[in-house]
Amino acid sequence: MCGIVGYIGEQDAYPILIKGLHRLEYRGYDSAGIAVANSGDELKIYKAKGRVDDLEEFCRSKDISGNIGIAHTRWATHGEPSNANAHPHYSESENLALIHNGIIENYAVLKQQLINKGFHFRSNTDTEVLVQLIEYIKDLNKVDLCTAIQLALSEIVGAYAIAVLEKGVTDRIIVARKSSPLVLGIGDNEYFIASDASPIVEYTNKVIYLEDEEIAIVSRNEPPRILTIKNVEKSHEIIELEMNISQLEKGGYPHFMLKEIFEQPQTLRDCMRGRIDISCQHVVLSGIIDHKERFLDARRIIILACGTSWHAGLVGKYLFESFCRIPVEVEYSSEFRYRNPVIYPDDIIIAISQSGETADTLAAVELARKSGAFVYGICNVVGSSIARNTDSGSYTHVGPEIGVASTKAFTAQLVVLSMMALCIAREKKTIPDERIKALLKELNRIPDKIEKILQSNELISDLSKIFTYAHNFIYLGRGFNYPIALEGALKLKEISYIHAEGYPAAEMKHGPIALIDTEMPVVAIATDNGMYEKVISNIQEIKARNGRVIAVVSENDTVVKSIADYVIEIPATEDCFDPLLTTIPLQLLSYHIAVNKRRDVDMPRNLAKSVTVE
Ligand code: GLU
Repeated sequence: MCGIVGYIGEQDAYPILIKGLHRLEYRGYDSAGIAVANSGDELKIYKAKGRVDDLEEFCRSKDISGNIGIAHTRWATHGEPSNANAHPHYSESENLALIHNGIIENYAVLKQQLINKGFHFRSNTDTEVLVQLIEYIKDLNKVDLCTAIQLALSEIVGAYAIAVLEKGVTDRIIVARKSSPLVLGIGDNEYFIASDASPIVEYTNKVIYLEDEEIAIVSRNEPPRILTIKNVEKSHEIIELEMNISQLEKGGYPHFMLKEIFEQPQTLRDCMRGRIDISCQHVVLSGIIDHKERFLDARRIIILACGTSWHAGLVGKYLFESFCRIPVEVEYSSEFRYRNPVIYPDDIIIAISQSGETADTLAAVELARKSGAFVYGICNVVGSSIARNTDSGSYTHVGPEIGVASTKAFTAQLVVLSMMALCIAREKKTIPDERIKALLKELNRIPDKIEKILQSNELISDLSKIFTYAHNFIYLGRGFNYPIALEGALKLKEISYIHAEGYPAAEMKHGPIALIDTEMPVVAIATDNGMYEKVISNIQEIKARNGRVIAVVSENDTVVKSIADYVIEIPATEDCFDPLLTTIPLQLLSYHIAVNKRRDVDMPRNLAKSVTVE
């Protein structure tokens, strides 16, 4: 994953680069480094294992002057987190410094070839191979740096976003990308480079998103020159960002995750705004309406996603099958792409990814497009790779999600899927217009109902204290709430490091019930919906074996309250929208347990926000 930042202009580069690294730290945080060039013909690199704060501490006594530089916060793929493996990496002569986000898959062969030619390696990373190769090609062919990078990248198999500085050249940074994101920010006599727009937005709202296999020469006082790695000149539209700086701050909350949980009433209103008409008769999703025939003729829907987005996809299956009567398969992108799957030209593929950069989903999308299927993207990051590589789609419009554990992006994915299902159902006439109207009215009420659930934050915080030291958890749900049981368990694992499993409640008796004892907390989603009676029976089975049950129930419930050990009440809604409500107390429960355990909630160990490597 990793975060990349670069600056060239009239200001001191160092503070801009460090601030940018902090903004990108959600992408990786095992080590960080910086390279600054100054007019004294020096190209200095400073690196530190640990967080960006550790790098800042290390740089306190160093000469960090210069108004051109590059910086990196790492999520290791090749080589442990260490000072030596942190980026930037020097070339053999130390004339070049390079940062990289991605994986060089053929690094081992190239490394051996370079070692045979007398090159020395200072790290165990795949990245160092690239900077060495660039220098080798540059010296061998006596070509300029841009040409050397183009030639080197032609030999690379894998994914990269790179930025390269050259000693003695203080008026140019060269960047390139393939399958890892890279954005150029266009300021007044200054340019910014970053993995996403968050480090750029406080300086300029004008950006260019580089495309795959493009290289940009970013020079002082000149517009960036963009070429392909095959040396074809490209022109790019400058895009105006809508992001604002307050979206990137914690706004008084102790963690981004809590802020993002509390933002959900507003983010869901933003997600629906302009898409559901005032009388709740229609959903206006142009991504569907403009391609109506494809949806009407769809033989099947395949949803591709990873992690939390995959859980959203599972809810999508229940929605599309019940409302649109179209068969749906939900696939892990990472399995789908390597399985030689059967894809029909009249299939609809829905790819879900918060960042729009998830490497496996992007590759699965490419595979699906080759088979002629129609591909629809559900992403949050505007202009992201998946958004650009799909036939059509809908943004979730929740603003930047910084907490590594997804919350507001997940609920917005559910809302987009709900709106899509209702939009298609209306076109296909699979449910009566009156029913669609009632459902849309209820969907409009969901943000208010979430607001009400958030008032239980204190209660959930108190409840969490009882379970801080549990070693395992089971989450149960049925029907629309089965995926929420999976998501609740994932949230707990991600940020508290407690082992947790989610199951469809009735599956308990096929094995997991053997785990139940007084030490095993069971979170049961037991709201008053079509599966209510069935879930009550499942809870009884757990209580009969001395399990401890925390139940999420509908307001005014009496039956589950009399059986479960603890209850969290939420407002009633339609079965199909229950996931939008039941997921909220589970987000809060994981959050508070993680805080009790003093975990780093926004940057949990071993994780990074967007998985841009396979
Ligand atoms: N492969 C590089 C490394 O391990 C970059 C990692 C990444 O972008 O995630 O240092």
